[in-house]
Amino acid sequence: MSGDAHAQLAAEHEALIQFLYLAPVGLVQTGIDGEIVMINPISAQLLMPLSRDGSLTNLFTALEDVAPELRHLCAMFTRPSGMICDGLHIQLNSGSAGKRTRVPQVLSLSLLKLDGARLMAVLQDVSEQVRRERQLRQSDAWLNALLTSISDYALVGLDREGRVSDWNETIGRVTGFTPAVVGRPYSVFYPEDATTPERVHDRLREADANGWSLDEGPRQRADGSRFWGSTMISPMPERDSEAGNGGEDDGEPAYCLVLRDISDKREAIDQRRKSAYCDDLTGVANRRAFFEAAELELARHRRTPRPTALILFDADHFKRINDRHGHPGGDCVLRQFGAALAMSFRQVDVVARVGGEEFAVLLPSSTLAAAAALAERLRKLVEGQPAVFDGTPIAYTVSAGVAAIDEGETLDLDTLIKRADRALYAAKANGRNRIACWNGDRDAA
Ligand code: GH3
Ligand code: MG
Ligand code: MG
Repeated sequence: MSGDAHAQLAAEHEALIQFLYLAPVGLVQTGIDGEIVMINPISAQLLMPLSRDGSLTNLFTALEDVAPELRHLCAMFTRPSGMICDGLHIQLNSGSAGKRTRVPQVLSLSLLKLDGARLMAVLQDVSEQVRRERQLRQSDAWLNALLTSISDYALVGLDREGRVSDWNETIGRVTGFTPAVVGRPYSVFYPEDATTPERVHDRLREADANGWSLDEGPRQRADGSRFWGSTMISPMPERDSEAGNGGEDDGEPAYCLVLRDISDKREAIDQRRKSAYCDDLTGVANRRAFFEAAELELARHRRTPRPTALILFDADHFKRINDRHGHPGGDCVLRQFGAALAMSFRQVDVVARVGGEEFAVLLPSSTLAAAAALAERLRKLVEGQPAVFDGTPIAYTVSAGVAAIDEGETLDLDTLIKRADRALYAAKANGRNRIACWNGDRDAA
């Protein structure tokens, strides 16, 4: 092997170690007998309270009291590689009287056999009932990230503002960008409609607050071609204070971004997500996905206000359509309307079916006027483009209510929806096939 190749390999190894170190879940790599080879700080934190003698040398020993079956599970697993257990819940002893209440009650453990000699464990504290579901999904995303070949990630340093701070070969390999990318915001790796300047900052703040920020979605290479990627942003560990100068920009990257091409995983991921978050009939997001995404967006809004708009669409006289064309005819109209919606909005907008013939679109970083213009465009499009069912055109129309959060306001989701709903009611009352905007409580009556 040439010196260059050696250096490259060493650099990649270094990058991988850093990636594991910064991972937002507990990661432990062990030998097949459970002897710990690598352990990241979160794992140490989770496992330390279980250690009898204050040391952490063997994963099975550390978990002996709470998951005695583990060693056996492993021994029984004869395949050369694969998942030994997936999200195994480990109930910790609650009676550790002297310890603080911070001690987690339930750990989730996934154990992956990498090969005949190595195991990888993913550990999470899942005790908080409300966060459990979300965390399991993240652990899933992490395993996807791990299972993807480790050579196809780009490791990108970012400055405090989220601009690429320097170039390296992994960036070139995964994204095709040249050193000219230095100084551009990391959104250069995203298709234009898949993020907003505010969102770019949200992720940095999220990383500051939680230690990391992970998302998955369409990404873009230098030549404009797209791929499906996962992006993890973590703040760089604090450097020695002797070098520090009070948070001033010292040219060192402030964040580390790991970008992986997970296109080949997408189908499996999509399938899983679809079953939980997609509406079966139309393929757009379902009600649950809408509320989760909208709550998140409003939380971002509360931290950093920006214009945010909501459109509620409702098909007009839909009962008549069903009466005239049958339920399958009505379904066909809903499918066509869902497709029109999905086509008309940005990636970053949340398009969802929130009721039988009701759809919602949440538009981050959009004003009332901009949202109203889009709603009107869609209304016209639908009016001029009947759905076709069994060769028969079915003409239909929709009404929409548009609302936005005014400058300087903080709103909860319920209130925003109520406003859009009132506007929708006004559009219906004024004759349907039209849009109306919420414009203060003047319309409330
Ligand atoms: P308006 O213009 O006031 O909205 O009149 P509308 O008839 O659309 O209003 P309403 O909300 O009273 O009726 C909605 C109808 O949508 C009733 C229901 O049978 C129909 N519907 C709800 N979900 C589905 C569905 O999944 N498929 C079909 N084909 N029809 C549905
Ligand atoms: Mg309705
Ligand atoms: Mg209706």
